[in-house]
Amino acid sequence: MAVQQCKKSKQRVRQRKAQIRYRGLEATTCRNCGAPCLDHRICTACGYYDGKQVLQIKDKAAKA
Ligand SMILES: [Zn+2]
Repeated sequence: MAVQQCKKSKQRVRQRKAQIRYRGLEATTCRNCGAPCLDHRICTACGYYDGKQVLQIKDKAAKA
């Protein structure tokens, strides 16, 4: 059985655990158009996912 060499204090454990908390959604850039978008989601600016056109995005100028 593994035996720990010395007891970690509550402070040390809590400082380590504080690093692995949820930090909210992190935006990345689209590889097709470079716009900020979320990982594992279709780019809302150009409609590309994994290098392929998945959605047809209408122009904002056409909507207005
Ligand atoms: Zn894009």
